[in-house]
Amino acid sequence: MSTQTILDLMSPYWGDRQTVASYVGGEFIDGHGAPVQIRNAHDDSLLLSFADADETLVEKADAAARSARQQWWALTAQARGRAMYQVGALIREHAENLAQIEALSANKPIRDARVEVAKVAEMFEYYAGWADKLHGEVIPVPTSHLNYVTYEPLGTVLQITPWNAPIFTCGWQVAPAIAAGNAVILKPSELTPLSSLVVGVLVERAGVPKGLVNVIAGFGHSIGQQLIAQADIRKVVFVGSPATGRHIAAAAAQRCIPTVLELGGKSANIVFADADLEVALRGAQAAIFSGAGQSCVSGSRLLVQASIFDKFTQALAKAAVQFQVGDPASEQTQIGPINNPKQYAHVKAMIERALADGARLVGEDAEPVPAGPGYYINPTVLAGDNRLHCAQEEIFGPVVVAIPFEDEADAIRIANDSRFGLAGAVWTRDVGRAHRVARQVRAGTFWVNGYKTIHVSSPFGGYGKSGYGRSSGLDALREYSEVKSVWVETAAVPAASFGYGASLE
Ligand code: NAD
Repeated sequence: MSTQTILDLMSPYWGDRQTVASYVGGEFIDGHGAPVQIRNAHDDSLLLSFADADETLVEKADAAARSARQQWWALTAQARGRAMYQVGALIREHAENLAQIEALSANKPIRDARVEVAKVAEMFEYYAGWADKLHGEVIPVPTSHLNYVTYEPLGTVLQITPWNAPIFTCGWQVAPAIAAGNAVILKPSELTPLSSLVVGVLVERAGVPKGLVNVIAGFGHSIGQQLIAQADIRKVVFVGSPATGRHIAAAAAQRCIPTVLELGGKSANIVFADADLEVALRGAQAAIFSGAGQSCVSGSRLLVQASIFDKFTQALAKAAVQFQVGDPASEQTQIGPINNPKQYAHVKAMIERALADGARLVGEDAEPVPAGPGYYINPTVLAGDNRLHCAQEEIFGPVVVAIPFEDEADAIRIANDSRFGLAGAVWTRDVGRAHRVARQVRAGTFWVNGYKTIHVSSPFGGYGKSGYGRSSGLDALREYSEVKSVWVETAAVPAASFGYGASLE
């Protein structure tokens, strides 16, 4: 039943195809490698099975990208901007279909999927506006030269993305890359390739040359590694787990190819006793339970001032059992399942270990793992110490570890006692304290009296083990550009360089 639904939803893009293939140079190309399964996390049924992409695709994607980027760059910057704006319009036109595809194939609650699709349209529109504004600069050098700086496309870039927010991450990376003039080879997670394939098709329908955005459907350890090792690429942008990120950066370094790494987090959400506690409570729920905690910026460490610790954590646990947990396709669902069996096993094992290590389950009715066929984990509140394994490692599920702190210095110390540095937040009515904490917590994104708001216009990325480089905003355009400094001598009689005085006379 679900299989037929997904084939119907995909038919406007791939016609009467019966399964997943890569999209390269404007054509769907079947793989012949090991089988890949996309499963419905609600009931553990098999949704689609397809064959991993072949190594021969590396050369095809290279050739398609090379030809497309020459055509793309031959257009005026204004024409590139118009085409990108049209991508946004097409995504809006197909929004409901895309959201249904994401809900069913990526196991994301339909209400969340709709929000993410709308944000992807906005990403193409935002970068459409930048296409003719990425102009260079003139530097007031202290010599007789005119020195100017230009931003040039890198060439072809490889993007490797995870399963937790497939269409969001696709737009987040593809839009700035093509706005800066590059071609893209995108390898989404083998578990969630469908919405990225649709974006690949819509990009071309908007008038972008065929082959500018190529989407490869397959495993990371096979075709992903082959692309890093062999493709004619100038940068690898990776969004995913810390372990894979380190592996990819090492492989790219063998070819002197730079990387951007957007990795995981263990972000501290800090609640002071002087905060508006009702608002902070709602914020703490959104920070960890939305997306079933499968979000890199989740507020997975909840630091609560000791004087309100019991009251606040018990209120959170009480709220946690009231969420609608269930089928992502249902309009009522607030929290869906864990995306895949491997991640489900990981979350369960992390909870078991946490309890064995001495963490305490908060809430009288708390029951982390419900019975049933799907990969469900109930929203769970644990109380413990920051040095516990569950407070130091990413769980990537709806599980928060609450940790008490005494005062401001203690909160900052605990927040920074982590290898990660992706995000964080503080809840307080004291404006001076809010700024002091924001300044001292080591994290790429920080909220004051809020959580999880991000926008394509603002830079995003990590400190420490959360990665390096920046996505979104102007920073992403710079990541996707080469910087060239041009020196033009303007003096009628130039000064002798380095004292050399040779003459033709
Ligand atoms: P993952 O690292 O397992 O996989 C991510 C991608 O890498 C997939 O496309 C996968 O096929 C590919 N891959 C795996 N092994 C590879 C290899 N050897 N060579 C090349 N490619 C390979 O991550 P995941 O489990 O899909 O995603 C969850 C992780 O992503 C979490 O750690 C989460 O925090 C992180 N994440 C980070 C951000 C961010 O912006 N910082 C955003 C979303 C998710």
